[in-house]
Amino acid sequence: MRILISNDDGIYSPGIAVLAQVAAKFGEVRVVAPDVERSAAGQSITASSPLRYKRTPLGKVDAWRVDGTPADCVTLGLDRWEKVDVVLSGINLGSNLGNAIWHSGTLAAAKQAALLGIRGIALSTPSTDTEPDFPLLAPWVARVLELLLPATDLRLVNVNLPAKVPRGIKWTRQSVRRYDGKVVPANDPMGRAVYWYTVVPLEGAEEGTDLLAIENGYVSITPLCLDLTNHHELERARQAYPVDEIIFT
Ligand code: MN
Repeated sequence: MRILISNDDGIYSPGIAVLAQVAAKFGEVRVVAPDVERSAAGQSITASSPLRYKRTPLGKVDAWRVDGTPADCVTLGLDRWEKVDVVLSGINLGSNLGNAIWHSGTLAAAKQAALLGIRGIALSTPSTDTEPDFPLLAPWVARVLELLLPATDLRLVNVNLPAKVPRGIKWTRQSVRRYDGKVVPANDPMGRAVYWYTVVPLEGAEEGTDLLAIENGYVSITPLCLDLTNHHELERARQAYPVDEIIFT
């Protein structure tokens, strides 16, 4: 099995090293990741300039760095390496839960794989003032890969691991409670105004969601889809706001 690994924290993040180490037990591994941190880059791609793809020392791992976004890395990685079975992204230093996944570069790398017809799995864990305890999490990452790598019918999956020893694993749905895109004013060292952008959940997590699973100390696994259509609203809108389907000639 060929496993391509990327992230949005950059090729020198400790999270990607652990993921590469664990994934190597399951197949042939190559790392293709951004040369610098690109967290919250979302699904952005570099369409107006070329990209560079350079070999990088990373222990025993076959690793390449790219001066682009996570989505660029996956596109380029899949082009430069044939017959990849699955793309793993992470382990991100910071959760990717609920509505915050819209901005996630970690998830975007997995999503980019799914857009290109390859399975994608994103992995994240909370990170505060202390680094995640990767030796503690590594066996749980292995368990998750044992479960998900053979599940070839799951095309795009978002995995979050809690900060401490997990109580178990839960299948979850994405929490869609509103969040607060809070702007915090501050001053730079020269006294000039700057603004910090933060995202905090406004309400408690709903039953069965990714947010609640992590709050309760479980590994959360959410299967995602690429179709953003609100199928329920589509039917309702057709009834409520009829349009003339005029063909302009
Ligand atoms: Mn990140």
